[in-house]
Amino acid sequence: MASSQRTPPVTQLDPPRHAVVVGAGVIGLSTAIRLLEAGYRVDLVARDLPGDPLSIEFTSPWAGAHHVSVANGADMRLHQFDARTFKVMSDLIRSDPDVPLFFAKQTEYREEPEPTEGPGQHAGQLALMSRYHPNFRWLAPGELPTGIACGAEFTCILIHTPDYLAYLVGRVKHLGGRIHRCGALASLAAALEVDPSLSSADLVINCTGLGARTLVPDAKVFPTRGQLVIVEAPWISQGITRLGPAREGQPRVYDYTIPRPKTGHVVLGGCAEQNNWDPNPRADMTRRIKERCLALQPELLPPDKRTGGTIDDLRVVREAVGLRPTREGGIRLEVELLRTAAGREIPLVHNYGHGGYGFQSSWASAEAAVELAGRSFDGSGMALDRAGKARL
Ligand SMILES: Cc1cc2nc3c(=O)[nH]c(=O)nc-3n(C[C@H](O)[C@H](O)[C@H](O)COP(=O)(O)OP(=O)(O)OC[C@H]3O[C@@H](n4cnc5c(N)ncnc54)[C@H](O)[C@@H]3O)c2cc1C
Repeated sequence: MASSQRTPPVTQLDPPRHAVVVGAGVIGLSTAIRLLEAGYRVDLVARDLPGDPLSIEFTSPWAGAHHVSVANGADMRLHQFDARTFKVMSDLIRSDPDVPLFFAKQTEYREEPEPTEGPGQHAGQLALMSRYHPNFRWLAPGELPTGIACGAEFTCILIHTPDYLAYLVGRVKHLGGRIHRCGALASLAAALEVDPSLSSADLVINCTGLGARTLVPDAKVFPTRGQLVIVEAPWISQGITRLGPAREGQPRVYDYTIPRPKTGHVVLGGCAEQNNWDPNPRADMTRRIKERCLALQPELLPPDKRTGGTIDDLRVVREAVGLRPTREGGIRLEVELLRTAAGREIPLVHNYGHGGYGFQSSWASAEAAVELAGRSFDGSGMALDRAGKARL
């Protein structure tokens, strides 16, 4: 691992504060890394760990994934998080040849026009992405397929999620963090009972994704079901997204293809079914995904099937379903006080609710959680009441 990829410690804490991070998805692992770099002693506890057999209760290993923001001008916090994370990931690619992140060409199509920036109007997704994606270019009208109102192409980042999670685990351990498997915790305070050495911890960081719904509890957290079809098409090196029109109170229909470098696979989606917990692929959705993605990128077919080929000629590796940990109001970055079994009150920093954008917002969200953790103690190290009303 190249040493230049590690951010220098923000703070040297003496003695170090002891943080227990609950959750080992992309959010828990990224947060643990930033805490360790900031001088904290870190123990991470989780029911599911990277490398486990796939479980519908653990979202991160299911994701496609690519860094293509869904933020628009109505959510500038998310835009800032995504832009910052793009910068961190870009620096990782440049400094560490082994990091499982890859630059790739991305094409975005929109069935409805998107606002550009101007007085009195929020910028659309593409206008915000134009601020930080290299090689950004609006497509000319003559380049747009039928039914597409606007589009752009640019360099995005592809994330090989199982390998990237393993890479993050390696960084946590390299920095001295400890990782413990636990059963399904009944409360966040129970995280301090997982090992006797955790009972005197100074703070807990909650990165439990969908688990926060019952663990906090937070009724604003709900699943957004995503079904995928993974095909073999090693000749595909660029991804394409087509986004349908806005629908009142409902996610927009969208189709996407995401190459997974080195595997020769391409992830086909998408679907975003709110409050649907069904863990099994549905045949009707599989068919829809194949048809729409093939219309989007006919080169998904093997070269010898391009003329007259159909969805039956796609080389399907498997179908999959993952549940995005969505939250009304977006990511919760907030501090409360947690009463431990021994009756102490310690800061509890929440960092959950990343919906369909947990990888692309991960580093900025982790940095915000560490900032909240630092702000939740007074000068003498005591936990502030309601942690000083800290909220981001
Ligand atoms: C189909 C699909 C495609 C996606 N594509 C993208 C994409 O292209 N780009 C992108 O940025 N994001 C994408 N996402 C979203 C991304 O995967 C999530 O936002 C992210 O994985 C959430 O990470 P997390 O760490 O919050 O949650 P998780 O990965 O679910 O981790 C939660 C952790 O908390 C632990 N936990 C939960 N409850 C308990 C409990 N009671 N006791 C003990 N431990 C507990 C779990 O064991 C686990 O370790 C996609 C998601 C899906 C499903």
